[in-house]
Parts: sequence; C-alpha cells; structure tokens
Amino acid sequence: METQELPRRKRRKKRSVIGGIIKILFLTAVIVFCFCLDHFFHMEQTEGFSSDSLSAGISALPAPESFADEEDWMLILVNQSHPLPEGYEIHTVSLSNGEQIDERIYPALQDMFDAMREDGVYPVVASGYRTTQDQQQILDDKIEEWKAQGLSYEEAKSSAEEWVALPGYSEHELGLAADINADGIHSAGGDVYDWLAENAYRYGFIQRYPEDKTEITGIAYEPWHYRYVGEKAAAEIKEQGICLEEYLEERGK
Ligand SMILES: [Zn+2]
Repeated sequence: METQELPRRKRRKKRSVIGGIIKILFLTAVIVFCFCLDHFFHMEQTEGFSSDSLSAGISALPAPESFADEEDWMLILVNQSHPLPEGYEIHTVSLSNGEQIDERIYPALQDMFDAMREDGVYPVVASGYRTTQDQQQILDDKIEEWKAQGLSYEEAKSSAEEWVALPGYSEHELGLAADINADGIHSAGGDVYDWLAENAYRYGFIQRYPEDKTEITGIAYEPWHYRYVGEKAAAEIKEQGICLEEYLEERGK
C-alpha cells in the first residue's frame, strides 16, 4: 500500500505545483491588465482626449498651427482697427480690490508687485479686465460728462471717443492689460510710472502707449497702462524702443 501511495502523493504534489503556477500567471495577467487600463484612463485625462473627440476622429483635434503658436495669446493685437477676436474666452482671477485679470498673467503681475513693494513703491491695479458692457458704460459716462459741460450729444460723443476706446476695441477686454497707479498713501503716481517704465519688461509687461508712439497706437500717452506680452517679447520691445504694433509688423503678423 505504501509503495502505491507514494507516487500518488507525488502526483498530487505535482498537480498542486502546476495549479499554483497557473494561479500566479492568472494573477499577473489581471494585474498587468489593470495597470494598462489605469494608464489608458490617465492618458485620457492628461491629454484631454475625451471619448467624444476620439469618436469624432482627427477633425476634432486642434489644427497643427495652434500647437506651434500656442503662446500667441500673449501677442493678440487689439486696437482701433483690430477688434477683440470673435468668441474670445477668458478665465479671470479677482484681485483683492475686486478688479479682475486673466488668470494666466496673475503670477507675473504678483511677482512684479512684490518686487515694487520691496523697492518701496506701492501700486494698485486701478482697472483690469473689462467686459464689453463695462467698456460701453465707461464710454456712456464720458459722453454724459462732456454733455454736462454744455456740448451737444454729437460733440460729446466724438470727444469721448477720442479718450475712450469703443466697446470691442479696448485692450482691457482681453484681460491682459492693467492700469497701474499708486496707492495714493505710500506712493505717488510718478514713483509707480518710473518704476514700471524701467522694470516692467522683466515681468513680461510693456508700456503699451508710449509718448513717442501715439501716431501708431492711436492712443494718447498713458504711463499707467501696461500690457502682458511675455518676457521674451517684452525684453525685445523694450530694447528696441518700439510699440506692440511695430513689433508685430516686424514678426510679419
Ligand atoms: Zn488702460
């Protein structure tokens, strides 16, 4: 009996070893499958391919140029002959005084303000992002102001339009511009304007309407109006002493 039992036990042992290997292989396969699945979903999230755009195919993907020129948002031109792009979308962040700006330029603006304060200059954003309705309101208020001084509606309107951009044509509607003034307590306007003229480019901001470029910009000298264009463009514009219109023309835009 014993001599017969021995091989059987051995066989059972052999079977259980094979069973164990199969179990391990199966578990490994399950783990690998789960890992792949997780990786796939992770890719979907980070690369932004929703199931909709996958099923819609290549036509749903952005055109190749928008990948190449992904920083062009910094250089969008808005002036009297270039209205705000149609369907322009903006995500703003609110500053402590209630003004808003494009969230993409907030870190640079914060760094610049920190640097100013370290130098003993105290600025405020007097005006940041404006909706088209805000711009209309500013224009209407200006017209009323001129009318109150005795001008006819037509006269008041044309005078106001010399100072206030038409709705849809103000750089403030981009959310990339800020009127920066002194806080009026610790600093005076001149301190802030001087500091900005000297240093703003280091943070990607340019003085948008310089004194010697009014014929090109179509806007009177505004030492308080700063526009974000990114550090590279700001440094080139500052070094060459040109305005945004000239810079974009140089680049063939
Ligand atoms: Zn302004």
